[in-house]
Amino acid sequence: MSLWRCAIGDCEARFEDVESAIVHQTNEHERHECQVCGTVVPEGYFAIRHAFDEHTRAEYVRSYDADSSAVRVRESVKDAIEKEVDLRAVVDQLDIEQPV
Ligand SMILES: [Zn+2]
Ligand SMILES: [Zn+2]
Repeated sequence: MSLWRCAIGDCEARFEDVESAIVHQTNEHERHECQVCGTVVPEGYFAIRHAFDEHTRAEYVRSYDADSSAVRVRESVKDAIEKEVDLRAVVDQLDIEQPV
C-alpha cells in the first residue's frame, strides 16, 4: 500500500493513514503564517485548507508567487486527503485547543 508522506520542507516522514500524517504536521512542525491574511495556522494540510477555503486562487497565486500548476497540485492533495480523512480522529489527537 502507498504511504502518505509529510513533504513539509525536506521532511520525509511517512504514515499509513492520513490522520497520522496530519497530526504529525500539526504537532511536529512550526506553524505557518498565511501569506494572504496573516492568520497563523498549522503547517501542511490545514495550511492548504485555509488557503483554498478562505482565499481565492488569484489571491493565493499573488501572495505565494505560485503558478497554476502549483495551485492544481495543492488542490489535488487537498481532494485526496478529504476523500479519506476522518477529521474528528485528527482533532482528538492534536495538542491544540479550539478558539473559544
Ligand atoms: Zn513532517
Ligand atoms: Zn489566510
